[in-house]
Amino acid sequence: MAEVREFPAVWLQGGSCSGCVVSLLNAVSPNIRQLLVDPVVPGRHVSLLFQPTVMAGSGEVALSVLPGEEAARGFILVVEGSIPTASPHYCMIGETGGQELSMLDKACELASRALAVVCVGTCSSFGGIPAAAPNPTGSKSLKTVLAERGISVPVVCIPGCPPHPDWFVHTVANVLLNGLPAADALDDVGRPLEFYGRTIHEQCPRRPDFDAGKLAKKQGDAGCLYHVGCKGPVTYADCPTRMWNSGVNWCVGANGPCIGCVEPSFPDLLSPLYEKICEERLPRLACTTRS
Ligand code: SF4
Ligand code: SF4
Repeated sequence: MAEVREFPAVWLQGGSCSGCVVSLLNAVSPNIRQLLVDPVVPGRHVSLLFQPTVMAGSGEVALSVLPGEEAARGFILVVEGSIPTASPHYCMIGETGGQELSMLDKACELASRALAVVCVGTCSSFGGIPAAAPNPTGSKSLKTVLAERGISVPVVCIPGCPPHPDWFVHTVANVLLNGLPAADALDDVGRPLEFYGRTIHEQCPRRPDFDAGKLAKKQGDAGCLYHVGCKGPVTYADCPTRMWNSGVNWCVGANGPCIGCVEPSFPDLLSPLYEKICEERLPRLACTTRS
């Protein structure tokens, strides 16, 4: 039998709703069982050591599998959720030997020894909803916290609220096949251009309606959803072509505006979510806007 090389991975959950891992559990091809049990690509298997939502273990036994201080840079750290910084007590991942382990300290400690970090979801990538004003927990993105502590490690961001399972699975497969993405394969906020390279607006099937001025006036109307809050012109993702739930539909297809869930400006600068974009606040409008 051909040898299978193991790639250990640790998945921490910080300030999050667990929606990102639930989205991944809905992966279709490969499905989650194949992802956890089989090689993701021939001869290479991700050995998921720690994932609070899916692992059977708990307490000190579960925490004991986290790579210790002696571990070389041989594992991938996946982080879901923001990092609360106002107090370590706002997010604890457990307790060992009577000592509390805060998300803030553990994420930084593991990141400093990881081969690479994958931020899954908008909260770990950019702060997301936990970091929305007034942000009482002092939530920050992992990258911000690492920079503040002077920790240097390659970080790939897979934002989304939640992210599409393909974006994560294909990124992992790509890393296993080709190594870490080159700088020119990522955009200026660390997202793989393969998935986040074009605006929703460029790919939207309702773009002809926008161009023709056929704009919905209220939720539920036919036509382009720009006036009822669609953030497609400033949102970079492939949802219109990839679609969700195994290719069944996507937000605009279900007559709901894109709320820009993959963007660093989500949610504060894109709010109110169901009102027309406040163009003055946003730096990257990819269309001729309409009044
Ligand atoms: S504004 Fe939204 S609904 Fe209208 S064309 Fe752009 S992405 Fe599609
Ligand atoms: S269409 Fe917009 S809101 Fe919907 S999942 Fe894609 S990026 Fe997020």
